[in-house]
Amino acid sequence: MKIMVVDDSKMIQALVKETLESRGITVILAENGQVAKEKLSAGEAVDLILLDWNMPVMDGPSFLVAVKEESLTSSPIVMMTTENKPEKIQEVIEKGVVEFIMKPFTDDVLFGKIEMVTGVSYAV
Ligand SMILES: [Mg+2]
Repeated sequence: MKIMVVDDSKMIQALVKETLESRGITVILAENGQVAKEKLSAGEAVDLILLDWNMPVMDGPSFLVAVKEESLTSSPIVMMTTENKPEKIQEVIEKGVVEFIMKPFTDDVLFGKIEMVTGVSYAV
């Protein structure tokens, strides 16, 4: 499995990358929506995208709009966020988010969501 992690936090990038790679998952990093968009446009194929909400240059919601408008991927997109306002959550569901991971999250929550969305189990 190959997962794209889109987050401007170097700490989150490193943490999630290490966690995913520890179970044999290939990780592609992008520091904002624009970089993620360029990688997908260039032909990078991933099975799942983990997307941050707040990022400079292009944030999560704007990335979702770009994905839809430019048909960049049909892979599921899971949002990693601290946002819990119902109207905000509804907004990104309408833009294509299939699941949420509330920050901060444990490895179990992360792999549980991955299994929920892809059907592939990484339980140990
Ligand atoms: Mg951020």
